[in-house]
Amino acid sequence: MQIRCRECEGRAIITTTNRLSNEFTRLYCACRTAECGHNFVMQLSYSHPLRLPSSKLDQQLVNQLRELPPERLEALLDALRQAR
Ligand SMILES: [Zn+2]
Repeated sequence: MQIRCRECEGRAIITTTNRLSNEFTRLYCACRTAECGHNFVMQLSYSHPLRLPSSKLDQQLVNQLRELPPERLEALLDALRQAR
């Protein structure tokens, strides 16, 4: 990831990261332009998936569906068939 200093438009580097959650990280940055030397914080956050959700969710769903009584599972399957 290329970081640009907003003060001089020069290149900056990430010196430290602080991961506050699985969707939000603070990036501590330092401008590499000697005459500038600006230090600043940028924020990196998760926005949205581009396609399907992670495939890890598939197995979680299967495990949850296994816990359902057969009649509820059958009702869900019927609802899915009708939704298509
Ligand atoms: Zn700068």
